Amino acid sequence: MLVHFKGELRLYVLINQFILNFCILFTAVSLFFLPFRHKKRISPKSPVSIRLAIGLASGAIAMMLMFNSLQIDIARVDLRLVPVVIAGMFGGFLSSFTTGAMISAARFATTPAEELEGAIISTVVLLLIIVTMGLFRKYSKPTFGNFQRMIIAGVLYSLPAIYFLTNGWIVFFKIAFIYTVANLFGGYVTYRMLTEMRRHFDHVKRQQRLALTDALTGLANRRRLDEVLVRAEESNDPYSLLLVDIDFFKRVNDEYGHDAGDDVLQQLGKVLLSSVRQEDIVGRFGGEEFLVYLPDTRIKEAILIAERCRYEVEQHTFSARGQTLQITVSLGLSESAQEFSSDDVLQQADKALYVSKKDGRNRVTPYERSFLREA
Ligand code: GH3
Ligand code: MG
Ligand code: MG
Repeated sequence: MLVHFKGELRLYVLINQFILNFCILFTAVSLFFLPFRHKKRISPKSPVSIRLAIGLASGAIAMMLMFNSLQIDIARVDLRLVPVVIAGMFGGFLSSFTTGAMISAARFATTPAEELEGAIISTVVLLLIIVTMGLFRKYSKPTFGNFQRMIIAGVLYSLPAIYFLTNGWIVFFKIAFIYTVANLFGGYVTYRMLTEMRRHFDHVKRQQRLALTDALTGLANRRRLDEVLVRAEESNDPYSLLLVDIDFFKRVNDEYGHDAGDDVLQQLGKVLLSSVRQEDIVGRFGGEEFLVYLPDTRIKEAILIAERCRYEVEQHTFSARGQTLQITVSLGLSESAQEFSSDDVLQQADKALYVSKKDGRNRVTPYERSFLREA
């Protein structure tokens, strides 16, 4: 609530008001950050919609701060400078202008006719800050130093206005001191919080990606494939599974060394990726075995894709620790069906792969029911 202060201005009243403002700022900035947490860091080059959103969010915060300002004579002191600078330093001119427009509109709407001077002067100061920041941001990065420089510039622009709108030097000095300290502190904490939160969410995202990626090949790992299979089973959409196993891979390791074997695995991952479609998921199932998940794919189409994989591997010359070699792969295919769990479908692909090996390797075998009897 806007507090009209009359009588002798005590410091604790001012400090208390800024603490209240600070709590609003801190809470609101944390909440408003959340929808942006997975977006790229916002800059004046971000899409217009994002820059507008930052401006509006900062404007909303600034309005909350202003509705909780302390009115001394016809000056209103609060921390609204901080969201203006945040908007400007991240989203550039468009963002800070949006924030500024909201502040001015709110200021005029809540100012009685006989106090209009206050609204006019605060709008002029605001415009000066926004223009200065717009120019400054063009040639500088949103570092902590630059952020604080803009807060200081904003404070310097505001102080003459505060002096003009209040009566007497004593009151002015009290306000000037607390106003400066509060804005610098509020700016510092807000900036630090935003950068820490950004770092935290980037870190979480990176860890999530690592947890689902095979370190050697960069493909989906077993955990990710398991998730894919669970989701496939839940969705009831048709899919096919393709298990790929290198033929006589032990020999590669024995002849060329384990490191060379790793090189082959990495390249095989790339060959498989380039042989399947965009929507297919290639993963390393374990050791020298790869699994390809083929969404929305019936067995007939899956056979063509599997055959392309087999052919591309056969044609590819692998380079391993300076030497070149050829390999082949055996493939087992299976198709989803209402009555089978994804685990069943996977086992069927494994049985089909076994048949490929038994029948001479370097071939594609689709699962058939008759395999059950043979096994
Ligand atoms: P086939 O499948 O044709 O029957 O013969 P294979 O020699 O490939 O047979 P097997 O599946 O028994 O052997 C797989 C070999 O793959 C054994 C293991 O040393 C090797 N291997 C498994 N994981 C890795 C790995 O990460 N790096 C390397 N270099 N080798 C691996
Ligand atoms: Mg194997
Ligand atoms: Mg093998």
